[in-house]
Amino acid sequence: MKNQEELYDLRHVSVQKSSLKVLDQISFNLLSGQALSILGPSGSGKTTLLKVLMGIEKYTGELRYKSKDLSLLDNILFRRSLGYVNQGSLLFPHLKVRDNIILQARLLNWTEGQIEERLDEVLQIFDLNKNLLDRSSAQVSGGQKQRVALARALFIKPQLLVLDEPFSALDQMLKKELLEEFSGYLKKIGISVLFVTHSLSEARNLCDFYILLNAGKMTDQGNFNNETSDLSEFGRQFFGSF
Ligand code: ADP
Ligand code: MG
Repeated sequence: MKNQEELYDLRHVSVQKSSLKVLDQISFNLLSGQALSILGPSGSGKTTLLKVLMGIEKYTGELRYKSKDLSLLDNILFRRSLGYVNQGSLLFPHLKVRDNIILQARLLNWTEGQIEERLDEVLQIFDLNKNLLDRSSAQVSGGQKQRVALARALFIKPQLLVLDEPFSALDQMLKKELLEEFSGYLKKIGISVLFVTHSLSEARNLCDFYILLNAGKMTDQGNFNNETSDLSEFGRQFFGSF
């Protein structure tokens, strides 16, 4: 079947920082084309797990990406192949919108022609006006900043999109609108997604699968579309509180 190659295979992945087990024996699999949300309260280890999956955080245990030991990949090249929206500061404020969006393509040595062609496409996809491109990123409104950050992440047509709480700063209306639009688009292009959030409704909107973290441990995993009768005590509390 198309798109069903194994993307990630984690076995007993742990991260220790001083005396704290930030991640404790995490094991799961993700197939290519699937969208996984990494859920959990603040401080549970979500960002750390994302960094491990991006190859920028040291871990112990076994981690395979497309059947290869992740610790043996060239981590700079691997990072550049990913679409990424970080938590918090979404754009580089000293760069124009255009330079933010095309940054990764430049690092990958795209030609000017390739860049211009793709710029037209992403402006259309994200409903962004061309005259926005020459503005300084610091002058762009919150909702537009979010769109630009997503446009930047998808600019190079990555196989994997990595999102760390990208919608948290938006007001409810804007968030709902952007999430619906964005989720439709992601399904259409069939990209794999890792989506970190503490919001169950955001997770359900974008993803079919989830894992739930609590204090560095994976307490639950599942599929939003299936009955979840066998949740852990923590899982019942977490899902029940929404
Ligand atoms: P989340 O993204 O779920 O809020 P993080 O992965 O950022 O959680 O952090 C998980 C835990 O690891 C927190 O308790 C945090 O304080 C701790 N932590 C993260 N980075 C470091 C670090 N560099 N040194 C020590 N503790 C850290
Ligand atoms: Mg975080």
